Amino acid sequence: MSEEECIFCKIAKGEIGSETVYEDENVIAFRDLNPKMPVHVLVIPKEHYDNLSDDVPEALIGQVFGAAARVAKICGIDESGYRVVSNIGKDACQSVMHLHVHVIGGAPMGDDL
Ligand code: 5GP
Ligand code: ZN
Repeated sequence: MSEEECIFCKIAKGEIGSETVYEDENVIAFRDLNPKMPVHVLVIPKEHYDNLSDDVPEALIGQVFGAAARVAKICGIDESGYRVVSNIGKDACQSVMHLHVHVIGGAPMGDDL
């Protein structure tokens, strides 16, 4: 899929609406369309990378994780706990090929991955 057609690139450019939770120069965080937990936010870099295996600059990875921690604070789950998960490729069921991490929480989770 070309970057022009990438749904998360369109969200990053504001061409498709989303419920933004946090945004800065390099990343944007917005609520997942089909939340699996009371808090379910996606953090993406504004620049397109397919996933973590796409030669992503390490500074940008740091910015994505930094934003995930901010999102947890904004959503009030930083003290109760949360997960930051990134699905990469086929076996992990990545469905949108634009690097993203899920920030999920707001209720107790199992101790399986
Ligand atoms: P993946 O399975 O690739 O790790 O996660 C993709 C996530 O993106 C899914 O949880 C799905 O619900 C979410 N998603 C897909 N399309 C949209 C959209 O247009 N807007 C929002 N907010 N989330 C989306
Ligand atoms: Zn994209």
